[in-house]
Amino acid sequence: MTAVEPDPDTPTENAAATCATCGDPVETDEWHPAATTRTDDGAVQIRSFCDRSCRDRWRERTE
Ligand SMILES: [Zn+2]
Repeated sequence: MTAVEPDPDTPTENAAATCATCGDPVETDEWHPAATTRTDDGAVQIRSFCDRSCRDRWRERTE
């Protein structure tokens, strides 16, 4: 058996590849909702989301 099953308890090395709202893995090869934020020191960060409802929820929480 070589199939890899997603394990939600395993930290991913690429933080941008998980949904910022629910933590689900995001398929970054495909189109996915995203939003940009700025950190305190002015750097732009890109947040990825598994679907639009997660992006909307994240916006409601941050605004
Ligand atoms: Zn999500």
